[in-house]
Amino acid sequence: TDKTIPRPIRRLDETVVNRIAAGEIINRPANALKELLENSLDAGASNIQITIKDGGLKLLQILDNGHGIRREDMAIVCERFTTSKLKNFEDLSNINTYGFRGEALASISHVAHVTITTKTADSNCAYRACYSDGKLVPAKPGASAEPKACAGNTGTQITVEDLFYNVPTRRKALRNPSDEYNRILDVVNRYAIHNSGVSITCKKQGSNQSEVNTLSTAPILDNIRQIYGSTASELLELSKSFRKLEFEVHGYISNANYNLKKMIFLLFINHRAVENASLKKTIESIYTTYLPKNTHPFVYLSLEISPQNVDVNVHPTKREVRFLNEDEVVTAIGDTIQERLASANNSRAFLTQV
Ligand code: ADP
Ligand code: MG
Repeated sequence: TDKTIPRPIRRLDETVVNRIAAGEIINRPANALKELLENSLDAGASNIQITIKDGGLKLLQILDNGHGIRREDMAIVCERFTTSKLKNFEDLSNINTYGFRGEALASISHVAHVTITTKTADSNCAYRACYSDGKLVPAKPGASAEPKACAGNTGTQITVEDLFYNVPTRRKALRNPSDEYNRILDVVNRYAIHNSGVSITCKKQGSNQSEVNTLSTAPILDNIRQIYGSTASELLELSKSFRKLEFEVHGYISNANYNLKKMIFLLFINHRAVENASLKKTIESIYTTYLPKNTHPFVYLSLEISPQNVDVNVHPTKREVRFLNEDEVVTAIGDTIQERLASANNSRAFLTQV
């Protein structure tokens, strides 16, 4: 093409815009599952059952007993920027739900076939509807696209089929279903451990054995035991609040008797599963004095930071969050872990002396 002549500027078609935007939020099955799981938790579910086929590429299904979706909202639930959680920009500084952008279901419906079956407590039946590109579509050609009454319990079931069926390049990049399944399990494990009071199960379709299966009555330590087995008996509890920096840390960290080939770091900031490279590095370096060379700890940490000091809106996937005084907070957590490990080690030395 001739680069000396400008080509006309045109407005992109809405479907193209939405499909491009979808790629930012949903780039693999595990992202889609995280969004669905967070929606179920936002809906107040105490029981969440996940079923996966082919690493989530063929099927991602999630069933919850949350508050359901109102019949009159079903037409717009998969449209972009429709949400029941956020009203004003100001609400963002005090948001207590995982979701707020109203983009997840829309994004998923632009790159997969979505079916929602849902019932609210005050409705006498459930409704089922299918979605494509944000809109209601008929379940079969020729049928009506309107939500159809059906039997069901209060709560929501969302089925996502053939993820990236219309994005061949993405599909090609995700050739290994067992790798995708492991990434899904990583997300499920984190939320299953952290959400004491919620029973979460995850299994492959057709299998009668769940890989994850926590009880709604189990405390966090039991959830860790369910998922990581014997790890749980080598954990030290951590709990401290910092008035000046306005945050609290609670968690379980492995002791000097325990080590792994690769660090397991389950980090939550205000209940969101997030990553934080500088905190991870600080913790790893503390453990080097306690663990054999090239081995690593298990660390579960839950930080509760004053919401005004946290910015959750830095990335569409909300994988990272920014918070005030990050360096000081990281140092304070490092010191707390250091003290806890040192005191555990001293009491052991004392015991062996006796
Ligand atoms: P967001 O979570 O940011 O609001 P989503 O696209 O994830 O956006 O969901 C859109 C809306 O659909 C939510 O605000 C909520 O009202 C409804 N919703 C989605 N999943 C569920 C669910 N499992 N139970 C009840 N309502 C749901
Ligand atoms: Mg959401």
